[in-house]
Amino acid sequence: MKYISTRGNGQSLESAEAIIAGLAEDGGLFVPETIPQVNMDFITGLTAMTYQERAVAVLSQFLTDYTAEELQGCVSRAYGSNKFDSEAIAPLNIMGDDAVLELWHGPTSAFKDMALQLLPQLLSTALKKTGEKHEILILVATSGDTGKAALEGFKDVDQIKIMVFYPENGVSRIQRLQMTTQQGNNVAVVAVKGNFDDAQSGVKRIFGNKEFAAELDKQGVALSSANSINWGRLVPQIVYYFSSYAELLKAGKIKAGEEISFTVPTGNFGDILAGYYAKLMGLPVKKLICASNTNNVLTDFLKTGVYDRQREFFKTISPSMDILISSNLERLLYHITGDAKLVAQWMQQLAEKGRYDVGSEVLAKIQAVFGGDWADDAVTKETIGKVFKEKKYVLDTHTAVAWDGAKHYEATGAEEKMVVVSTASPYKFNESVLTALGETIGDEDEFQLLDKLQNISGMAIPAGLAALKTSEIKHKQVVEKQEMDAAVLAFAKQ
Ligand SMILES: *Cc1c(COP(=O)(O)O)cnc(C)c1O
Repeated sequence: MKYISTRGNGQSLESAEAIIAGLAEDGGLFVPETIPQVNMDFITGLTAMTYQERAVAVLSQFLTDYTAEELQGCVSRAYGSNKFDSEAIAPLNIMGDDAVLELWHGPTSAFKDMALQLLPQLLSTALKKTGEKHEILILVATSGDTGKAALEGFKDVDQIKIMVFYPENGVSRIQRLQMTTQQGNNVAVVAVKGNFDDAQSGVKRIFGNKEFAAELDKQGVALSSANSINWGRLVPQIVYYFSSYAELLKAGKIKAGEEISFTVPTGNFGDILAGYYAKLMGLPVKKLICASNTNNVLTDFLKTGVYDRQREFFKTISPSMDILISSNLERLLYHITGDAKLVAQWMQQLAEKGRYDVGSEVLAKIQAVFGGDWADDAVTKETIGKVFKEKKYVLDTHTAVAWDGAKHYEATGAEEKMVVVSTASPYKFNESVLTALGETIGDEDEFQLLDKLQNISGMAIPAGLAALKTSEIKHKQVVEKQEMDAAVLAFAKQ
């Protein structure tokens, strides 16, 4: 199966090549040229499988240039029991009529692990398959969570190094400890004197510097990024939509072929798009509800067909959804229209004018599958409180946004089974969660807050977070923003 650009430049690559390239040469995103189709036997067959086996079954539909052995190797290294604290990897928590797909049992307690555990394995295997001789240096600028998830995924992976820059005073104490205690022989973690934008601009400047690339090339090193538009980050996410359907079948909650819906807390539109791919492949999915916080650019788009990023940016208590440009939407527009020229025009309008309008016909096609809803911080907190009271189950802030959207959708009379996609452990956002549960927070440090949440929720503190209190600090480098280039060069030479 070949991969082509959403903007139609004529590039046509195998999946391994697309995963190494990341972005198409015209700035477009790689999409599969055709969508593989599965039947109900395939889906019912998943019920008897482990998550790892389900992953191989689904991935092999798309990554046709990888052998079965290669995929099995990638999957077992990514989703081993030493890395996830649930044997089910992505357990479906069924509570009466409600079902929550928990995607946060990986090493950093957030859903990014689902993709960032597998992408490095797919990339490393791709380098071997294609005979690529360069060592790949992954550069990441992070405001907290993605950096840690990328470090965990890339640590000790063959032929790849990873360097993460974070703003010296722009991350929480736990986030800083998560990164500065990072183990692995191929990792570097560097604090930048400045804010997140300084770190990100520095990384962008390095990526755009041709002379710098030539200098690295002499060392046999090429730069790459781990961002969420890489096909190798998207494809792992398709698996858990199939897996949760199989779990509902196994539990007798649905019959084979019965349609279900998903509500997904959305930022960059990667997670929910994976659900759309599952539907296109033949999974019985009725609706995908896109749940946003106050940065509700997608809610408006799904209502009007106008995507307009020219609006106020809000910092919310669900920060991983504080996004005004949802990059993966470009893939949806391509699949809905099949018209790369049109997609390229819209993306140009977005870059130049900050908005585009897909028109009523395209909008109607999107609305046939997607619904949109949003919740502000007050509603998010209310929802956390209410669900805990009713079910003794603690939602994180992102999942609470989705829960609220799911209930609105159900209130319209929808009768199909709904799965709420849960993207973070409540421990990752303990301060907001504790306030939502009615606790007042004084001068406790973050570890005391973890204990407090444990006492209330009865859920164990994730091992990765609990261990931070005593882990050795390994990374102490701090640089000025103009020293980032030199730091990269020095690390590349090591
Ligand atoms: C990244 C993230 C999201 C948004 O996922 P997208 O694929 O970017 O839409 C939601 N919740 C959490 C906790 C995240 O880390």
